[in-house]
Amino acid sequence: MEFFVILTLLFLVIGASLYLLVCVDPNSPGLLGMMNRFVFNTIPAIFKKILGERIFKVFSRGIDYFFYSNHPLVQIFYVLVAVGGYLVYLYFGFLELFNNNPLVSHLDTAIGSTMALFCFYSFFQACRYKPGIINKENNKEYVNQYKEYYDNVVYLKENHCKTCNIIKPARSKHCRVCNVCVSRFDHHCVWIRQCVGQKNYKYFVKFIITHAILCDYGAYLGFRCLWGIIIKEKLLEAQFRDPVTKQRLQATWGIIAQYLFYKNTMYIFIVILCIVMGIALTCFALYHLYMIGQDTTTNERMKRSDFLNFFDEETERLEKQLKDAQTPEDIKQATTKLEQVKQCQQKIITTKSIGIWRGLKSVFNEPDDLDQNPKVKNKKR
Ligand SMILES: [Zn+2]
Ligand SMILES: [Zn+2]
Repeated sequence: MEFFVILTLLFLVIGASLYLLVCVDPNSPGLLGMMNRFVFNTIPAIFKKILGERIFKVFSRGIDYFFYSNHPLVQIFYVLVAVGGYLVYLYFGFLELFNNNPLVSHLDTAIGSTMALFCFYSFFQACRYKPGIINKENNKEYVNQYKEYYDNVVYLKENHCKTCNIIKPARSKHCRVCNVCVSRFDHHCVWIRQCVGQKNYKYFVKFIITHAILCDYGAYLGFRCLWGIIIKEKLLEAQFRDPVTKQRLQATWGIIAQYLFYKNTMYIFIVILCIVMGIALTCFALYHLYMIGQDTTTNERMKRSDFLNFFDEETERLEKQLKDAQTPEDIKQATTKLEQVKQCQQKIITTKSIGIWRGLKSVFNEPDDLDQNPKVKNKKR
């Protein structure tokens, strides 16, 4: 039973880290960008070499199904692990170790359980409300809403989505998993099995922040609870017997940690999970808060950095061309092109910082979108 729970939770950590990597911009210069490239470029290349072309195709089809098709596996996984994780914490921590502990009480049980309920509700909301799907009826409305974002570099006016047969509003994107165009597209989220966009971004942010707080609180309570056990059992002054040599040993931090882990394996495991998930989710939540303050989205950051990289390469190429230029005509041509590239570059760089408070206000003022299933609606027509 314990083995099964540990295995499930391990899968959560791996799954969540993979998911976070998917969301990270592969062009970002930091460690995360490097990890993203490692997972999505290097590992597949190695697998291709080891497995051969044929088996690799089957393998990558499986990956495609998992990451890029609309299946409920991850949602089911969330319910199992989030509810399961909470129940493990409740059983081994709240109901057992929190009894007669000098540092934690059942007030913490009540607070932790209420938080967990908030989390489950925020997951339900994030799954329920639609992201702002663009169709022929609302096309004009969405185009007008983000008119000023057409910069003729990243967002071109009168750009069409051939699949949805609509004019693409600035900041929108066609999601290949959901097969719809989404307004102010952020990313496709496998946990909630739909896109995150203009209308449901607030529920997504709520979903991450509540989960980050719950995990951080679980980790903090874990430390307090274990410290309470150390005080109650006077472990710092205790003597331990070595199971092999039968020698009496004075307590050290290493011995105390081993003793605690041996006696409360399940609880400590779930606390470690809270720490790992708490760090990951807190970073993720802060990243989204930062983007809210900059009035930008994950998709826009990726698009911008793609364009900027392209312009950097172009500048380098043209500068070299200018250096090697022989005739006045060559020089003129390269100079004009360089000027154009610079102009485009400048148009993109300007992201406006609106501040987190104003950003949050505009995100949370978006009306809900409960348009249930646009494809069914289209068929009726
Ligand atoms: Zn589309
Ligand atoms: Zn999608």
